[in-house]
Amino acid sequence: MTKKVKIGSLTMGGGSPVSVQSMLCAHYYDIEGNVQQAVELEKAGCELVRVSVPCEQALQLIPAIKSSVSIPLVADIHFDPSLAIRSVEAGVDKVRINPGNIGSDAMATRVIDCCRDRGVPIRVGVNSGSVEKELLQMYGGPTAEALVESALRHVRLIEERGYDQIVVAIKSSNIPTMVSAYRLMAKKCDYPLHLGVTEAGTVRMGTIKSAIGIGSLLLDGIGDTIRVSLTGDPVKEVEAGRDILLALGLRKGVEIVSCPTCGRTEIDIISIANEVERRTRDLKMDLKVAVMGCVVNGPGEASNADIGIAGGKDCAVLFKNGRIVRKLTGDYVDQLLSEIHRMKN
Ligand code: SF4
Repeated sequence: MTKKVKIGSLTMGGGSPVSVQSMLCAHYYDIEGNVQQAVELEKAGCELVRVSVPCEQALQLIPAIKSSVSIPLVADIHFDPSLAIRSVEAGVDKVRINPGNIGSDAMATRVIDCCRDRGVPIRVGVNSGSVEKELLQMYGGPTAEALVESALRHVRLIEERGYDQIVVAIKSSNIPTMVSAYRLMAKKCDYPLHLGVTEAGTVRMGTIKSAIGIGSLLLDGIGDTIRVSLTGDPVKEVEAGRDILLALGLRKGVEIVSCPTCGRTEIDIISIANEVERRTRDLKMDLKVAVMGCVVNGPGEASNADIGIAGGKDCAVLFKNGRIVRKLTGDYVDQLLSEIHRMKN
């Protein structure tokens, strides 16, 4: 089991639920835009939000965001250790540094000491592009071993300063490399691991890549927090992250089971399934809901669902645990939803 790390109000690692996080992408000088995005992310279920602090002006974002959301805030720092220190002073709950570009060990030490003194955790965030030259030469490129070694160097530096509130990320855009790197890291340290595929791509492909990379590791029992990186609205990152956890049974929620439809389908299953998914998305209950095309095979094929509907000729049937309960006419979705809400109470 990994160590417990406390990030503001969130506990990460040590058997805590896997958290979903995302990053703001409004310009650093657009305070209102960043605040609005942070509020939207929190509403979508984001549990930890990160903001870039590329310059002094961006420090103003920290109090503005902190006063608008209740989820912890992480400052993302590159190149300038003094910005990390000032972010901590401004009240961030965690600092993410990229060891490859934060400067000399002496500079990094200043950041570590400041975080330790204020109890602010540090995420060591290594990626393929940040691995030190000598490690690239030694391992013949940004291999899993090189990524892990780069992260461990910085973990040791933090440990030497008497601090252990550490989270580690070792991201690659190459899925096999990313998966191998995290598996190796999980054997070498017991700090919480932040999982993600870097530069994963657009919403469609990035979601697929992330589901494979992050999902494989979570199935191995590796990973304490996840970020799905997408070239798109960060709310989509949060939705994808939550759906990955839901699909793996790591998060409570309503899971939709729906058939691909075929020539036997009598009702418009595609729009019904989408509507049921949309209307059950925010329900905090563990439930498997089936939407099936035909009454002949639907209830049997979806017998592991708690409740469902299957299409018939100009009607549908409601079934529970594979057994037909009654015939439905009129608005099937409304009736299914009211049954679900009854189960909730
Ligand atoms: S449940 Fe019925 S409509 Fe759906 S795929 Fe199976 S046979 Fe076809």
